[in-house]
Amino acid sequence: MAKVLIIGAGGVGGVVAHKAAMEREAFSEVMLASRRLESCTKLATEIQQMHGRTIQTAQVDADNVPQLTALLKEFQPKVVINVALPYQDLHIMDACLAAGVDYLDTANYEPPDVAKFEYSWQWAYQDRFKQAGRMALLGSGFDPGVTNVFCAYVQKHLLDEVHYVDIVDCNGGSHGKAFATNFNPEINIREITAKGRYWENGEWKETEPLSQSAMFDYPGVGERRSFLLYHEELESLAKNLKGLKRIRFWMTFGEAYLKHLDVMQNIGITRIDEVEFQGQKIVPIKFLRALLPDPASLAQNYTGKTSIGCLCEGIKDGKKKRYFIYNICDHAETYKEVRAQAVSYTTGVPAVTGAVMMVTGKWKGHGVFNMEQLDPDPFLEDVGKRGLPWHVEER
Ligand code: NDP
Repeated sequence: MAKVLIIGAGGVGGVVAHKAAMEREAFSEVMLASRRLESCTKLATEIQQMHGRTIQTAQVDADNVPQLTALLKEFQPKVVINVALPYQDLHIMDACLAAGVDYLDTANYEPPDVAKFEYSWQWAYQDRFKQAGRMALLGSGFDPGVTNVFCAYVQKHLLDEVHYVDIVDCNGGSHGKAFATNFNPEINIREITAKGRYWENGEWKETEPLSQSAMFDYPGVGERRSFLLYHEELESLAKNLKGLKRIRFWMTFGEAYLKHLDVMQNIGITRIDEVEFQGQKIVPIKFLRALLPDPASLAQNYTGKTSIGCLCEGIKDGKKKRYFIYNICDHAETYKEVRAQAVSYTTGVPAVTGAVMMVTGKWKGHGVFNMEQLDPDPFLEDVGKRGLPWHVEER
Protein backbone atom coordinates (compact mmCIF):
# COMPACT_ATOMS: atom_id res chain seq x y z
CA MET A 1 0.00 0.00 0.00
CA ALA A 2 1.29 3.46 -0.82
CA LYS A 3 0.23 7.08 -0.73
CA VAL A 4 -0.53 8.86 -4.01
CA LEU A 5 -0.65 12.59 -4.74
CA ILE A 6 -2.67 13.79 -7.73
CA ILE A 7 -1.89 17.27 -9.09
CA GLY A 8 -4.57 19.05 -11.17
CA ALA A 9 -8.27 18.92 -10.33
CA GLY A 10 -9.60 19.37 -13.89
CA GLY A 11 -11.51 17.01 -16.19
CA VAL A 12 -8.82 14.31 -16.16
CA GLY A 13 -7.88 14.96 -12.51
CA GLY A 14 -11.49 14.27 -11.51
CA VAL A 15 -11.38 10.81 -13.09
CA VAL A 16 -7.97 10.07 -11.56
CA ALA A 17 -9.22 11.12 -8.11
CA HIS A 18 -12.39 8.98 -8.38
CA LYS A 19 -10.53 5.93 -9.67
CA ALA A 20 -7.66 6.28 -7.17
CA ALA A 21 -10.19 6.51 -4.34
CA MET A 22 -11.90 3.37 -5.66
CA GLU A 23 -8.52 1.56 -5.61
CA ARG A 24 -8.41 0.54 -1.94
CA GLU A 25 -5.72 -2.16 -2.28
CA ALA A 26 -2.85 -0.25 -3.85
CA PHE A 27 -3.41 3.23 -2.40
CA SER A 28 -3.44 3.68 1.36
CA GLU A 29 -4.10 7.43 1.11
CA VAL A 30 -5.06 9.72 -1.75
CA MET A 31 -4.42 13.47 -1.86
CA LEU A 32 -5.69 15.81 -4.59
CA ALA A 33 -3.85 19.13 -4.94
CA SER A 34 -4.52 21.92 -7.41
CA ARG A 35 -4.05 25.63 -7.99
CA ARG A 36 -7.51 26.33 -6.57
CA LEU A 37 -8.53 24.50 -3.40
CA GLU A 38 -12.24 24.74 -4.33
CA SER A 39 -11.64 22.52 -7.42
CA CYS A 40 -10.32 19.83 -5.03
CA THR A 41 -12.93 20.13 -2.28
CA LYS A 42 -15.79 19.87 -4.78
CA LEU A 43 -14.35 16.59 -6.10
CA ALA A 44 -13.54 15.28 -2.62
CA THR A 45 -17.19 15.78 -1.57
CA GLU A 46 -18.45 14.01 -4.72
CA ILE A 47 -16.03 11.11 -4.13
CA GLN A 48 -17.10 10.77 -0.49
CA GLN A 49 -20.77 10.65 -1.57
CA MET A 50 -20.27 8.22 -4.46
CA HIS A 51 -17.56 5.87 -3.15
CA GLY A 52 -17.57 6.42 0.61
CA ARG A 53 -13.86 7.24 0.76
CA THR A 54 -12.27 10.38 2.17
CA ILE A 55 -9.47 11.88 0.13
CA GLN A 56 -7.24 14.70 1.32
CA THR A 57 -6.98 18.01 -0.51
CA ALA A 58 -4.39 20.77 -0.76
CA GLN A 59 -3.78 24.04 -2.57
CA VAL A 60 -0.54 24.16 -4.53
CA ASP A 61 0.96 26.13 -7.37
CA ALA A 62 2.88 23.37 -9.13
CA ASP A 63 5.06 25.98 -10.84
CA ASN A 64 6.38 26.95 -7.43
CA VAL A 65 8.95 24.18 -6.90
CA PRO A 66 9.79 24.95 -3.22
CA GLN A 67 6.07 25.06 -2.33
CA LEU A 68 5.38 21.75 -4.09
CA THR A 69 8.51 20.13 -2.63
CA ALA A 70 7.35 21.09 0.87
CA LEU A 71 3.93 19.50 0.21
CA LEU A 72 5.60 16.31 -1.07
CA LYS A 73 7.91 16.12 1.94
CA GLU A 74 5.00 16.56 4.29
CA PHE A 75 2.58 14.07 2.66
CA GLN A 76 5.31 11.62 1.51
CA PRO A 77 3.58 9.95 -1.42
CA LYS A 78 5.27 7.09 -3.28
CA VAL A 79 4.14 8.58 -6.60
CA VAL A 80 2.80 11.85 -8.02
CA ILE A 81 0.22 11.68 -10.80
CA ASN A 82 0.60 14.92 -12.75
CA VAL A 83 -2.65 15.79 -14.53
CA ALA A 84 -2.19 19.56 -14.42
CA LEU A 85 -1.05 21.11 -17.70
CA PRO A 86 2.02 20.22 -19.79
CA TYR A 87 3.59 23.58 -18.76
CA GLN A 88 4.02 22.21 -15.21
CA ASP A 89 5.81 18.95 -16.13
CA LEU A 90 9.40 20.06 -15.52
CA HIS A 91 8.60 21.87 -12.28
CA ILE A 92 6.81 18.81 -10.94
CA MET A 93 9.71 16.56 -12.00
CA ASP A 94 12.10 18.91 -10.17
CA ALA A 95 9.99 18.75 -7.01
CA CYS A 96 9.78 14.94 -7.22
CA LEU A 97 13.58 14.72 -7.41
CA ALA A 98 13.97 17.12 -4.48
CA ALA A 99 11.53 15.14 -2.33
CA GLY A 100 12.46 11.61 -3.49
CA VAL A 101 9.12 10.70 -5.12
CA ASP A 102 8.28 8.81 -8.34
CA TYR A 103 6.60 10.77 -11.16
CA LEU A 104 3.90 10.04 -13.76
CA ASP A 105 2.18 12.27 -16.36
CA THR A 106 -0.12 12.06 -19.38
CA ALA A 107 1.26 14.77 -21.68
CA ASN A 108 4.78 15.85 -22.53
CA TYR A 109 6.29 19.20 -21.63
CA GLU A 110 5.32 22.18 -23.71
CA PRO A 111 6.82 25.66 -23.21
CA PRO A 112 4.01 28.20 -22.67
CA ASP A 113 5.32 30.67 -25.26
CA VAL A 114 6.02 28.24 -28.16
CA ALA A 115 3.37 25.84 -29.52
CA LYS A 116 5.76 22.93 -29.62
CA PHE A 117 5.89 19.69 -27.70
CA GLU A 118 8.64 17.11 -27.72
CA TYR A 119 10.26 14.72 -25.28
CA SER A 120 13.76 16.26 -25.34
CA TRP A 121 13.15 18.35 -22.22
CA GLN A 122 11.90 15.40 -20.17
CA TRP A 123 14.34 12.84 -21.60
CA ALA A 124 17.07 15.20 -20.37
CA TYR A 125 16.07 14.17 -16.80
CA GLN A 126 17.21 10.57 -17.46
CA ASP A 127 20.46 10.74 -15.49
CA ARG A 128 18.98 12.70 -12.62
CA PHE A 129 16.17 10.18 -12.08
CA LYS A 130 18.64 7.27 -12.45
CA GLN A 131 21.05 8.74 -9.92
CA ALA A 132 18.23 9.49 -7.50
CA GLY A 133 16.98 5.88 -7.84
CA ARG A 134 13.53 7.15 -8.89
CA MET A 135 11.17 6.38 -11.76
CA ALA A 136 9.44 8.82 -14.11
CA LEU A 137 6.73 7.37 -16.34
CA LEU A 138 5.84 9.63 -19.28
CA GLY A 139 2.54 9.73 -21.13
CA SER A 140 0.32 7.35 -19.16
CA GLY A 141 -2.99 8.50 -20.66
CA PHE A 142 -4.74 6.97 -23.67
CA ASP A 143 -2.85 8.58 -26.50
CA PRO A 144 -0.06 8.79 -25.51
CA GLY A 145 -0.38 5.92 -23.10
CA VAL A 146 -2.55 2.93 -23.93
CA THR A 147 -1.69 3.38 -27.64
CA ASN A 148 2.04 2.97 -26.80
CA VAL A 149 1.23 -0.14 -24.76
CA PHE A 150 -0.93 -1.53 -27.60
CA CYS A 151 2.13 -1.22 -29.89
CA ALA A 152 4.33 -2.92 -27.28
CA TYR A 153 1.76 -5.74 -27.03
CA VAL A 154 1.71 -6.21 -30.81
CA GLN A 155 5.51 -6.25 -30.83
CA LYS A 156 5.66 -8.76 -27.95
CA HIS A 157 2.90 -11.18 -28.99
CA LEU A 158 1.71 -10.71 -32.54
CA LEU A 159 4.46 -9.56 -34.90
CA ASP A 160 8.20 -10.23 -35.19
CA GLU A 161 8.66 -6.80 -36.72
CA VAL A 162 6.20 -3.90 -36.72
CA HIS A 163 6.57 -2.04 -40.03
CA TYR A 164 3.59 0.33 -40.25
CA VAL A 165 1.52 1.88 -37.46
CA ASP A 166 -1.50 4.15 -37.81
CA ILE A 167 -2.91 5.38 -34.52
CA VAL A 168 -6.55 6.35 -35.07
CA ASP A 169 -8.57 8.39 -32.59
CA CYS A 170 -12.28 9.03 -32.93
CA ASN A 171 -14.64 10.81 -30.61
CA GLY A 172 -17.99 9.85 -32.08
CA GLY A 173 -19.85 11.50 -29.21
CA SER A 174 -21.99 14.61 -29.04
CA HIS A 175 -22.05 17.17 -26.21
CA GLY A 176 -24.69 19.42 -27.75
CA LYS A 177 -22.54 22.61 -27.69
CA ALA A 178 -21.76 24.65 -30.81
CA PHE A 179 -18.05 24.45 -30.02
CA ALA A 180 -16.16 22.89 -27.13
CA THR A 181 -12.96 20.91 -26.67
CA ASN A 182 -12.84 17.62 -24.80
CA PHE A 183 -9.74 18.44 -22.82
CA ASN A 184 -8.05 21.68 -21.85
CA PRO A 185 -9.01 24.06 -24.73
CA GLU A 186 -5.67 25.84 -24.81
CA ILE A 187 -3.62 22.64 -25.10
CA ASN A 188 -6.12 21.09 -27.52
CA ILE A 189 -6.21 24.06 -29.93
CA ARG A 190 -2.42 24.45 -29.88
CA GLU A 191 -2.09 20.78 -30.86
CA ILE A 192 -4.61 20.85 -33.67
CA THR A 193 -3.54 24.10 -35.29
CA ALA A 194 0.12 23.02 -35.42
CA LYS A 195 1.66 21.54 -38.56
CA GLY A 196 1.09 17.79 -39.06
CA ARG A 197 4.09 15.47 -38.92
CA TYR A 198 4.72 11.77 -39.38
CA TRP A 199 7.78 9.54 -39.44
CA GLU A 200 8.78 7.50 -42.47
CA ASN A 201 12.00 5.63 -43.24
CA GLY A 202 13.97 7.42 -40.55
CA GLU A 203 12.76 10.93 -41.42
CA TRP A 204 10.10 13.30 -40.14
CA LYS A 205 7.75 14.58 -42.87
CA GLU A 206 5.78 17.76 -42.28
CA THR A 207 2.30 18.58 -43.61
CA GLU A 208 0.19 21.74 -43.45
CA PRO A 209 -2.29 21.74 -40.51
CA LEU A 210 -5.26 19.41 -41.18
CA SER A 211 -4.31 19.14 -44.87
CA GLN A 212 -4.32 15.31 -45.11
CA SER A 213 -7.32 13.18 -44.34
CA ALA A 214 -8.61 9.65 -44.88
CA MET A 215 -11.75 7.69 -44.06
CA PHE A 216 -11.50 5.06 -41.34
CA ASP A 217 -14.09 2.61 -40.10
CA TYR A 218 -14.08 2.87 -36.29
CA PRO A 219 -15.51 -0.07 -34.33
CA GLY A 220 -18.55 1.04 -32.34
CA VAL A 221 -18.82 4.35 -34.23
CA GLY A 222 -18.62 3.76 -38.01
CA GLU A 223 -16.82 5.52 -40.87
CA ARG A 224 -15.35 8.90 -40.04
CA ARG A 225 -13.01 11.32 -41.80
CA SER A 226 -9.74 11.40 -39.90
CA PHE A 227 -7.02 14.06 -40.14
CA LEU A 228 -3.27 13.56 -39.91
CA LEU A 229 -1.79 15.30 -36.84
CA TYR A 230 1.50 15.24 -35.02
CA HIS A 231 1.12 13.51 -31.68
CA GLU A 232 3.80 12.98 -29.07
CA GLU A 233 3.79 9.17 -28.93
CA LEU A 234 5.09 9.13 -32.53
CA GLU A 235 8.42 10.42 -31.24
CA SER A 236 9.05 7.68 -28.68
CA LEU A 237 7.50 4.86 -30.74
CA ALA A 238 9.65 5.76 -33.77
CA LYS A 239 12.62 5.23 -31.47
CA ASN A 240 11.47 2.12 -29.63
CA LEU A 241 9.63 -0.09 -32.17
CA LYS A 242 11.79 -2.68 -33.94
CA GLY A 243 11.98 -2.46 -37.75
CA LEU A 244 9.48 0.40 -38.02
CA LYS A 245 9.09 1.97 -41.48
CA ARG A 246 6.27 4.45 -40.91
CA ILE A 247 4.13 5.76 -38.06
CA ARG A 248 1.27 8.25 -38.32
CA PHE A 249 -1.50 9.62 -36.09
CA TRP A 250 -5.06 10.43 -37.20
CA MET A 251 -7.94 12.11 -35.38
CA THR A 252 -11.56 12.75 -36.36
CA PHE A 253 -13.15 16.22 -36.32
CA GLY A 254 -16.70 17.14 -37.23
CA GLU A 255 -17.49 19.81 -39.85
CA ALA A 256 -18.83 22.26 -37.26
CA TYR A 257 -15.67 21.94 -35.16
CA LEU A 258 -13.44 22.61 -38.17
CA LYS A 259 -15.56 25.59 -39.27
CA HIS A 260 -15.33 27.21 -35.82
CA LEU A 261 -11.60 26.53 -35.62
CA ASP A 262 -11.07 28.10 -39.02
CA VAL A 263 -12.93 31.28 -38.03
CA MET A 264 -11.11 31.50 -34.69
CA GLN A 265 -7.75 31.21 -36.43
CA ASN A 266 -8.71 33.76 -39.07
CA ILE A 267 -9.65 36.36 -36.47
CA GLY A 268 -6.56 35.65 -34.39
CA ILE A 269 -8.19 34.48 -31.17
CA THR A 270 -6.07 31.31 -31.08
CA ARG A 271 -2.82 33.37 -30.95
CA ILE A 272 -0.44 32.42 -28.12
CA ASP A 273 1.55 35.66 -28.06
CA GLU A 274 0.64 38.67 -25.92
CA VAL A 275 -1.49 41.48 -27.37
CA GLU A 276 -2.32 44.88 -25.91
CA PHE A 277 -5.97 45.23 -24.85
CA GLN A 278 -7.29 48.32 -23.05
CA GLY A 279 -3.93 49.02 -21.47
CA GLN A 280 -3.35 45.39 -20.45
CA LYS A 281 -1.44 42.54 -22.02
CA ILE A 282 -3.53 39.46 -22.75
CA VAL A 283 -2.84 36.18 -24.54
CA PRO A 284 -5.84 35.61 -26.89
CA ILE A 285 -5.93 31.81 -26.52
CA LYS A 286 -6.05 32.15 -22.70
CA PHE A 287 -8.96 34.59 -23.05
CA LEU A 288 -10.66 32.12 -25.42
CA ARG A 289 -10.13 29.34 -22.86
CA ALA A 290 -12.02 31.44 -20.29
CA LEU A 291 -15.00 31.74 -22.70
CA LEU A 292 -15.22 28.11 -23.82
CA PRO A 293 -17.03 25.43 -21.81
CA ASP A 294 -14.94 23.70 -19.18
CA PRO A 295 -14.32 20.15 -20.57
CA ALA A 296 -15.52 18.60 -17.29
CA SER A 297 -18.86 20.45 -17.65
CA LEU A 298 -19.64 18.61 -20.92
CA ALA A 299 -19.99 15.27 -19.18
CA GLN A 300 -23.60 15.30 -18.02
CA ASN A 301 -25.34 15.31 -21.39
CA TYR A 302 -22.67 13.65 -23.51
CA THR A 303 -23.88 10.78 -25.69
CA GLY A 304 -22.00 8.43 -28.05
CA LYS A 305 -18.64 6.73 -27.90
CA THR A 306 -14.93 7.15 -28.35
CA SER A 307 -13.06 4.55 -30.37
CA ILE A 308 -9.26 4.65 -30.34
CA GLY A 309 -6.75 2.11 -31.53
CA CYS A 310 -3.60 1.13 -33.39
CA LEU A 311 -3.54 -0.45 -36.82
CA CYS A 312 -0.24 -2.33 -36.96
CA GLU A 313 1.21 -4.11 -39.96
CA GLY A 314 4.37 -6.18 -40.09
CA ILE A 315 5.67 -9.72 -40.37
CA LYS A 316 5.19 -12.86 -38.31
CA ASP A 317 7.13 -16.02 -39.23
CA GLY A 318 7.96 -14.46 -42.60
CA LYS A 319 4.30 -13.67 -43.41
CA LYS A 320 2.67 -10.25 -43.71
CA LYS A 321 0.04 -9.67 -40.99
CA ARG A 322 -2.15 -6.76 -39.92
CA TYR A 323 -3.83 -6.25 -36.55
CA PHE A 324 -6.14 -3.64 -35.13
CA ILE A 325 -6.10 -3.26 -31.35
CA TYR A 326 -8.59 -0.85 -29.82
CA ASN A 327 -10.93 0.30 -27.06
CA ILE A 328 -14.46 1.69 -27.27
CA CYS A 329 -15.70 3.89 -24.43
CA ASP A 330 -19.22 5.22 -23.86
CA HIS A 331 -19.66 8.81 -22.60
CA ALA A 332 -22.91 8.09 -20.75
CA GLU A 333 -21.42 5.06 -18.98
CA THR A 334 -18.38 6.99 -17.76
CA TYR A 335 -20.66 9.75 -16.50
CA LYS A 336 -22.62 7.20 -14.48
CA GLU A 337 -19.46 5.77 -12.95
CA VAL A 338 -17.34 8.84 -12.19
CA ARG A 339 -19.27 11.92 -13.46
CA ALA A 340 -16.91 12.38 -16.41
CA GLN A 341 -17.02 12.25 -20.21
CA ALA A 342 -15.13 9.51 -22.05
CA VAL A 343 -12.16 11.66 -23.16
CA SER A 344 -11.30 12.49 -19.55
CA TYR A 345 -12.05 8.88 -18.56
CA THR A 346 -9.85 7.27 -21.21
CA THR A 347 -7.00 9.52 -20.00
CA GLY A 348 -7.56 9.20 -16.25
CA VAL A 349 -8.00 5.43 -16.01
CA PRO A 350 -4.59 4.62 -17.63
CA ALA A 351 -2.95 7.20 -15.36
CA VAL A 352 -4.25 5.28 -12.34
CA THR A 353 -3.20 1.95 -13.91
CA GLY A 354 0.30 3.36 -14.50
CA ALA A 355 0.53 4.49 -10.88
CA VAL A 356 -0.69 1.07 -9.67
CA MET A 357 2.00 -0.58 -11.83
CA MET A 358 4.58 1.63 -10.12
CA VAL A 359 3.48 1.25 -6.51
CA THR A 360 3.04 -2.52 -6.80
CA GLY A 361 6.45 -2.92 -8.47
CA LYS A 362 4.94 -4.55 -11.58
CA TRP A 363 6.67 -1.76 -13.46
CA LYS A 364 9.90 -0.64 -11.90
CA GLY A 365 13.18 0.95 -12.88
CA HIS A 366 15.34 3.98 -12.30
CA GLY A 367 15.22 6.72 -14.89
CA VAL A 368 12.70 8.18 -17.35
CA PHE A 369 10.49 5.72 -19.25
CA ASN A 370 8.00 5.83 -22.09
CA MET A 371 5.16 3.36 -21.83
CA GLU A 372 6.28 0.98 -24.61
CA GLN A 373 9.56 0.32 -22.79
CA LEU A 374 7.77 -1.65 -20.05
CA ASP A 375 5.99 -5.03 -20.10
CA PRO A 376 2.56 -4.49 -21.73
CA ASP A 377 0.87 -7.52 -20.13
CA PRO A 378 0.25 -6.44 -16.51
CA PHE A 379 -0.75 -2.94 -17.66
CA LEU A 380 -3.28 -4.19 -20.23
CA GLU A 381 -4.72 -6.70 -17.79
CA ASP A 382 -5.24 -3.93 -15.21
CA VAL A 383 -6.55 -1.23 -17.55
CA GLY A 384 -9.09 -3.65 -19.04
CA LYS A 385 -10.49 -4.53 -15.61
CA ARG A 386 -10.38 -0.92 -14.44
CA GLY A 387 -12.82 0.21 -17.14
CA LEU A 388 -11.12 0.18 -20.55
CA PRO A 389 -11.57 -3.29 -22.08
CA TRP A 390 -9.61 -3.72 -25.30
CA HIS A 391 -9.90 -5.99 -28.32
CA VAL A 392 -7.63 -7.31 -31.06
CA GLU A 393 -8.77 -8.15 -34.60
CA GLU A 394 -6.75 -9.53 -37.46
CA ARG A 395 -7.48 -7.42 -40.53
P1 NDP B 1 -8.11 20.96 -17.29
O1 NDP B 1 -7.78 22.31 -17.78
O2 NDP B 1 -9.52 20.54 -17.13
O3 NDP B 1 -7.39 20.71 -15.87
C1 NDP B 1 -6.10 21.10 -15.58
C2 NDP B 1 -6.04 21.37 -14.09
O4 NDP B 1 -4.69 21.70 -13.77
C3 NDP B 1 -6.91 22.52 -13.67
O5 NDP B 1 -7.90 22.02 -12.80
C4 NDP B 1 -5.96 23.48 -12.97
O6 NDP B 1 -6.30 23.83 -11.66
C5 NDP B 1 -4.71 22.64 -12.75
N1 NDP B 1 -3.53 23.51 -12.84
C6 NDP B 1 -3.16 24.32 -13.85
N2 NDP B 1 -2.03 24.97 -13.54
C7 NDP B 1 -1.68 24.55 -12.30
C8 NDP B 1 -0.60 24.86 -11.43
N3 NDP B 1 0.34 25.74 -11.76
N4 NDP B 1 -0.57 24.24 -10.23
C9 NDP B 1 -1.52 23.36 -9.85
N5 NDP B 1 -2.55 23.04 -10.64
C10 NDP B 1 -2.63 23.62 -11.84
O7 NDP B 1 -7.32 19.94 -18.24
P2 NDP B 1 -7.65 18.39 -18.51
O8 NDP B 1 -8.02 17.76 -17.22
O9 NDP B 1 -8.52 18.30 -19.68
O10 NDP B 1 -6.18 17.86 -18.94
C11 NDP B 1 -5.21 17.54 -17.97
C12 NDP B 1 -3.96 17.00 -18.65
O11 NDP B 1 -4.26 15.79 -19.35
C13 NDP B 1 -3.35 17.94 -19.70
O12 NDP B 1 -1.95 17.94 -19.54
C14 NDP B 1 -3.72 17.29 -21.00
O13 NDP B 1 -2.80 17.61 -22.03
C15 NDP B 1 -3.65 15.82 -20.63
N6 NDP B 1 -4.40 14.94 -21.55
C16 NDP B 1 -3.81 13.78 -21.97
C17 NDP B 1 -4.47 12.91 -22.82
C18 NDP B 1 -3.87 11.59 -23.18
O14 NDP B 1 -4.59 10.73 -23.70
N7 NDP B 1 -2.61 11.34 -22.95
C19 NDP B 1 -5.81 13.24 -23.34
C20 NDP B 1 -6.41 14.42 -22.75
C21 NDP B 1 -5.70 15.25 -21.90
P3 NDP B 1 -7.46 24.69 -10.99
O15 NDP B 1 -8.76 24.14 -11.50
O16 NDP B 1 -7.25 24.36 -9.56
O17 NDP B 1 -7.22 26.12 -11.37
